[in-house]
Amino acid sequence: MNPTQFSWPAGKRMALSLSFDDGRESQWRHALPLLDAHGVHATFYPMPAAVREHLEPWCAAVAAGHEIGNHSATHPCSGNFRFSRHNALEDMSLEQVEQGELLGANRQLEELLGVHPRTFAYPCGQTTVGRGESVRSYVPAVARHFLAGRLFFSEMHNDPAYCDLHQLYAVTMDNTDAAGVDALLDAARAEGGWLILAGHDAGPQGARQTTILETLEHLCRMAAEPENGIWLDTVEHIAEHVRNNRCAHGDARI
Ligand SMILES: [Zn+2]
Repeated sequence: MNPTQFSWPAGKRMALSLSFDDGRESQWRHALPLLDAHGVHATFYPMPAAVREHLEPWCAAVAAGHEIGNHSATHPCSGNFRFSRHNALEDMSLEQVEQGELLGANRQLEELLGVHPRTFAYPCGQTTVGRGESVRSYVPAVARHFLAGRLFFSEMHNDPAYCDLHQLYAVTMDNTDAAGVDALLDAARAEGGWLILAGHDAGPQGARQTTILETLEHLCRMAAEPENGIWLDTVEHIAEHVRNNRCAHGDARI
């Protein structure tokens, strides 16, 4: 597909998605009220256990139009992270990931919130099980069950004419100030890209793994200014647009 054939909705020169992982308490305490005040829809990838613990604010998030995606049932990462040593991707099979983590979390989120997750965020941004010669990718399992899959700790935006919808780049927005996100927005706009930002907690500057509320507010304000040409929407809605646009141009890479 010729990149010039790809187009964002009228007047938009780039796309932006804001996403938050794990379903941490500060997300519904601090991020959701701010997003709702600006009429911005974000994508949340909560652990089912976190939703079960605080059902009411997560139901309210669904009612307000935010996307709830799948972030697995038990958050398996490489055992190189000590917190995951007893739930390590190295020791898992593809079957365990597909049935237990992907479909299991979908079932729980459907039961709890009445939503069917359409996008997935890889815990720790990692995509494989096993080790060495027996490593297998679980990207194909994500592709079987989801419209899109989101990585983590990537360097840049996605090229909507080329990117793999099941390995979407996502740049961290934790501990990033307004100038930091402006640089990412400028780079995405220059190439007509889709910038996906990913965060964890939401709060004041200086805390670990925390999206600074002032930065979040800045992003909402930037997106509200028409001259900035930013289409700010959920991972699901933008992935749908990308897929449909490619279909319309006969591109098989969907
Ligand atoms: Zn996570």
